[in-house]
Amino acid sequence: MMRLPKFEYRTPRTIAEAVKIIGDAGPEAQFVAGGTDLYPNMKRRQQTPQTVISVMRLPELNQITGEGKSGLRIGASVTLTEIVENPIIQRDYPVIASAARTISTPILRNMGTIGGNLLLDTRCNYYDQNYEWRKGINFCLKKDGDVCWVAPGSSKCWAVQSSDLVPVMVAIGAKFRLVSTLGERMIDAAGFYNDDGIDYLKKRPDELLVDIHLPVTNGWRASYQKLRRRGAFDFPVLGVAAYVRYGTAANGALPNGRGSDPSRDEPRIEDAKIVLGGIAPAPIQVSEAAQALIGKTLNEDQIQAAAEACYVKARPLDNTDFVSQWRKQMARQYTLRALEALRT
Ligand SMILES: Cc1cc2nc3c(=O)[nH]c(=O)nc-3n(C[C@H](O)[C@H](O)[C@H](O)COP(=O)(O)OP(=O)(O)OC[C@H]3O[C@@H](n4cnc5c(N)ncnc54)[C@H](O)[C@@H]3O)c2cc1C
Ligand code: SF4
Repeated sequence: MMRLPKFEYRTPRTIAEAVKIIGDAGPEAQFVAGGTDLYPNMKRRQQTPQTVISVMRLPELNQITGEGKSGLRIGASVTLTEIVENPIIQRDYPVIASAARTISTPILRNMGTIGGNLLLDTRCNYYDQNYEWRKGINFCLKKDGDVCWVAPGSSKCWAVQSSDLVPVMVAIGAKFRLVSTLGERMIDAAGFYNDDGIDYLKKRPDELLVDIHLPVTNGWRASYQKLRRRGAFDFPVLGVAAYVRYGTAANGALPNGRGSDPSRDEPRIEDAKIVLGGIAPAPIQVSEAAQALIGKTLNEDQIQAAAEACYVKARPLDNTDFVSQWRKQMARQYTLRALEALRT
């Protein structure tokens, strides 16, 4: 049985207290929410904080406020089960509820939080192993070693961003609020992730994620499709989030009084985003796919063009489940599915 290393456990009751504790404790300290990612990592000695600071008793982090018309604020310590079951999220942000429902298992969703999910450690077959296994290969660049076994000539770690909610948050344009003893800042989800498996977040260790701000629901729709081996539970090895925002319908009247074309009455896409997760250290926005959709109706040709752009852009490596070339091909299929889901 793998045991946790010794650590000091702190349970602050206010945000001010929490950020002071981590500020005083320095880099040897780390926040914990549900612990479904951090504690297994500590048991495998991948992360070894001396001080662990719980964020579960901070009232502001446990609230959901607002709705689709005004925008929704979700506290970072809200559990995934609460996200799945919340009636306002189900009604106004169904993509968040359905993506959260695919995460791990019901028991883990009772513990795991939205904040922990958005800050999840990156994953790799050579890293997500116990200490003895990793010692057997002389460790790797991400922790305790000096070579990357996936790309031995590389000075960069390619461990994979493996959260189901990250691509969705990037696609819909969510913002994150971070607080430390130095003050507060908002950051776009799209700019929050680094393409580096070790330094994967644009967040300092002393910053507390307080809440997630979802945009108002003014004519956009989004969907998420996840590739995994086991339907019951598994991390994504590819996730596709699709977002489209419609403008007003084009005028169907043809010039020179030549009647009307009903297809021209269909609403046009004003903005689109397709985001791939689970194949690189950061989520990937495929701008070529978005360009294939913007200004058009969501028809078969546009969907095929966007899917092709995602296939071209996806370059998964052999460090998670399934053969990487097959995962690349699945980028096309899962983009098709994600966009088809927006037509119904
Ligand atoms: C068997 C298994 C299957 C899983 N399957 C999936 C899956 O399919 N999809 C998926 O996305 N995830 C999966 N997970 C990962 C994990 O359960 C979820 O991502 C969960 O949401 C993590 O939340 P948590 O609260 O437990 O995070 P924690 O473990 O508490 O924290 C994760 C990280 O976030 C930091 N942190 C947490 N809250 C804050 C905060 N407010 N401010 C600053 N830092 C903070 C911690 O320091 C830590 O680095 C799985 C885990 C297991 C064990
Ligand atoms: S990508 Fe390379 S450095 Fe990163 S965890 Fe995997 S083997 Fe280690």
